[in-house]
Amino acid sequence: MKLFRFGEKGEEKPGVIYKDGIRLDASAFGEDYSRHFFETGGPDRLAAWLEGHWQELPEVGEKVRLGPAICRPGKIVCIGLNYSDHAAESGMKIPPEPVLFFKASSAFSGPEDNVIIPRNAEKLDWEVELAMVIGQRASYVDESDAAKHIAGYALHNDYSEREFQLERGGQWVKGKSADTFAPFGPYLVTPDEIPDVNNLNLWLEVNGERVQNSNSKNLVHKPLFLVSYISRFMTLDGGDIISTGTPGGVGLGRKPPRYLQPGDSVTSGVDLLGECSQKIVAYPG
Ligand code: ZN
Repeated sequence: MKLFRFGEKGEEKPGVIYKDGIRLDASAFGEDYSRHFFETGGPDRLAAWLEGHWQELPEVGEKVRLGPAICRPGKIVCIGLNYSDHAAESGMKIPPEPVLFFKASSAFSGPEDNVIIPRNAEKLDWEVELAMVIGQRASYVDESDAAKHIAGYALHNDYSEREFQLERGGQWVKGKSADTFAPFGPYLVTPDEIPDVNNLNLWLEVNGERVQNSNSKNLVHKPLFLVSYISRFMTLDGGDIISTGTPGGVGLGRKPPRYLQPGDSVTSGVDLLGECSQKIVAYPG
């Protein structure tokens, strides 16, 4: 099953891709894809409900805006330097333990929404990533139990402003958190549709040129380990997002570095998780 959300910003409704790939309006189920939904077995309850109701649901038109695939999460936990080629291009060693950092949840955005260059920013960069969404709350979870806590997987582009991130002191969060810096979707795919999460191609193109091209088998720390590892430091609530890190090929790693400009278009995809495109625009005014 694939979950998505659609409609105007702030007014999104839940949708589901069911059976033959038809996009259905799932509003009649009565719940959005919130923390409560994920912590109470929402995807299974929705699947059971759909059995008897899917034929009555209206289809969602082609032209409607897609919102982020789930409601705004409580937290977005990102993993840094989790592909060896990306660590090398960043001039850093693979750290002995996963590097964790946060991205403000206010950066959450629809998968096809414009990405806004922040005021006074000149180093906007791209990062295609495999992300996961927590289902049942996770605290001190063993790796062998971690799968039970994952509600699904989705495509995430961890947009980053490199000067804010690396040249302005303190933590990376400053360069990761501007509005629109976390396009999420097109949809959340439940784990039953993904035979092997450790073998998914992921790629990203800038104006049609392929700049990132890798596979989740190259992740240093794998998704199940990451759920277990992070849960030793904080409780992961339902609907929280873990973004597993980006492979090599970001703008920072090019010689000379290349950063995004107004008018650029960025298209990315992950096997089985769909594709999305964002247009880069200047800060308004
Ligand atoms: Zn990242």
